[in-house]
Amino acid sequence: MADSKITSTIVQCDLDGCGWSQDISPSDVENWHNKACPKCGYSPIINDDDLSVFHVALGLAHLSSALDPCGDMPTETVTFNTKKLRESNHG
Ligand SMILES: [Zn+2]
Repeated sequence: MADSKITSTIVQCDLDGCGWSQDISPSDVENWHNKACPKCGYSPIINDDDLSVFHVALGLAHLSSALDPCGDMPTETVTFNTKKLRESNHG
C-alpha cells in the first residue's frame, strides 16, 4: 500500500486561554484520545468527534494514495480543525 499522505497532525487544547498544542505522528492520535491537556488538565484533548474526523481524513488520504499510486498528482495541504467543526455544529 502507498503511504498515507497525512504529513502533519497537531493536537491542540480547546480551552480558551490555554493554547497548548503539539505536533504528533498520525499514529499517535489514538494515544491522545480522552487524555487530559498536559498544561491545564482540560479533558479530553481528543474526543470521540475528533477521532471520527481524523478517521475520515485518514480514509481520504488512503483514497488519494489509491488514486495516485505513483504520487504524480500535485499535493495539497488540507487542514481539519475539529474545534471549528464542532463550533459550526452547535452554532
Ligand atoms: Zn490546556
